[in-house]
Amino acid sequence: MSTGAASGAGPLAETLCLSCGLCCDGSLFWAVELGSVDAVPDGLEAGGRLPQPCAFHTAGACGIYATRPGQCRAFVCGVLQTVQDGARDRAWGLARIEAMRHLLAGLDDALPGQGALYGRAVAYLEDAEAEPIDDRIRARIAVYREMIGDFRPLSDPPEPTRTPG
Ligand code: SF4
Ligand code: SF4
Repeated sequence: MSTGAASGAGPLAETLCLSCGLCCDGSLFWAVELGSVDAVPDGLEAGGRLPQPCAFHTAGACGIYATRPGQCRAFVCGVLQTVQDGARDRAWGLARIEAMRHLLAGLDDALPGQGALYGRAVAYLEDAEAEPIDDRIRARIAVYREMIGDFRPLSDPPEPTRTPG
């Protein structure tokens, strides 16, 4: 049975993760680092990584939940962890996910290109070294980076791959 997109188990994880999928769809990471024991079908692994948006993320769930990579198993985002710890309630977690989704929609409209937002935002900032940068887009990316911090640790420059939460 496939279940929540991420590693968390139990009713809270299912409620939040099945409403979310941000750690699988390219919103928070651009790839999952694969370990030596992780096996994914030929053609999906690239340079020891599973690119995001993840090909196994379908209908809001992980299609290989039972055999997902170790880093997926280990990852519990900051929002899920906060709710699981009882520091905040489920409604807060759902609101953080919804707020991120709202921000991503605006960023999707503002950024050039198509597809997963994390890679596009990084590419935009890197390209900006050669091209004039739009301060409004930079401001949106700054808010995006701040909100990513709700979900996972983020250093500067952004760490591209999934790391255990
Ligand atoms: S980002 Fe957090 S809440 Fe969303 S699917 Fe991943 S672990 Fe679950
Ligand atoms: S294998 Fe893909 S869909 Fe499954 S938990 Fe990992 S990133 Fe998400």
